[in-house]
Amino acid sequence: MPATTTQTSVLERFLRYVQLDTASDPASPTTPSTAKQLVLLDLLVSELKALGLADAARDEAGIVMATVPGNTGRSGAPVIGFLAHVDTSPELSGAGVKPILHREYDGRDLVLPDAPNPVLSPKEDADLAAKRGEDIVTASGSTLLGADDKAGVAVVMAAVERWMRAPSPPHGTIRIAFTPDEEIGRGVRQFDVRRFGARCAYTLDGAGVGTFEAETFSADSMAVTFQGRNTHPGFAHGVMVNAVKVAADFVSRLPRNTLSPETTQDVEGFVHPNDVKASVDRTSVHFIIRDFETRELAVKEDFLRKLATETVKDWPGSSVAFEVKESYRNMRDALAQHPQVAALAREAVRKAGLNLVESRIRGGTDGSILTEMGLPTPNLFSGQHRFHSRLEWVSVQDMEKAVQVVVNLAELWAGA
Ligand SMILES: [Zn+2]
Repeated sequence: MPATTTQTSVLERFLRYVQLDTASDPASPTTPSTAKQLVLLDLLVSELKALGLADAARDEAGIVMATVPGNTGRSGAPVIGFLAHVDTSPELSGAGVKPILHREYDGRDLVLPDAPNPVLSPKEDADLAAKRGEDIVTASGSTLLGADDKAGVAVVMAAVERWMRAPSPPHGTIRIAFTPDEEIGRGVRQFDVRRFGARCAYTLDGAGVGTFEAETFSADSMAVTFQGRNTHPGFAHGVMVNAVKVAADFVSRLPRNTLSPETTQDVEGFVHPNDVKASVDRTSVHFIIRDFETRELAVKEDFLRKLATETVKDWPGSSVAFEVKESYRNMRDALAQHPQVAALAREAVRKAGLNLVESRIRGGTDGSILTEMGLPTPNLFSGQHRFHSRLEWVSVQDMEKAVQVVVNLAELWAGA
């Protein structure tokens, strides 16, 4: 099949999907967090059915699953899965997205008509500078684009189309899933791994072309709560202990040049105070704790315990309590027990003629949670760049290469 046919398909799908507002909402108690995500999820169900995936359906939690039947005649071929998330980041509006296609990009500054600072410049974006000659899609400047992760959704849908059209490359049974609420970290909490029934899966939610990610942070959250002693301020002399001041003293003792998101990179972890609930009586400082080595989380938590305990010693009458919660774990440790999952992904990238770029995610993915739940799920690129921003962009050719990697990967598993 000529490559251009699929290319048109992946682009056409992408342009349609990004125009649906699917922002998730961390403050919402519902599942999924916003009903508007269901519009795209239901559209995907009908498109999957139209492509011949008869069992395509969405469940109560908003998760879409469907099956591409195998075509090899081999009953024992491993079942694998591909996933993408439909929601976009609540950090920036995803309403009224107007995608702009910049064909055969010539290396100039891209003007985004609705932006306050209307330029996406290759001088400030080495990835964009490398895309001369490719077709680039941006938003208009007042919203995000939503390539995170509608690029992944379009890539998976285009691969399904490729498998369902004769003649199709060899593949075993393939399970497809589209999920809500990835950006707020809870979209796959209700993912039924047993029902999905795959040996492993891949999210299509990575950035640059050729990227394969099989490592994420391990993550905890920690509340450090200072108890003071409140009285009427007019009768406070010698009695009041202000928990706001104790907590401020504690926060000011945090190191300035190490251990924070703004001073670390690559393999370094951090402790990050990101919220404070304050009153004279009681002030709680909320931290996220991150490291690629799970055992280092406890070291960082002990450091905070020690610092807080030292602080309260200087504020007689105050006390401190700690609460640690597990968020997610580095998928590397579980993936090590299934070496074929990463090995075939690397081979599929190379087979598409791409340089393999292996990186660690300084964050978590749906795959970190799914891997913990027993479904090994590393991450492949979908071509998204500058996500969660007005300057978000994607290369059509990168999405097309991602389709090829997905098709290659299914073929490699069919022979495994
Ligand atoms: Zn994403």
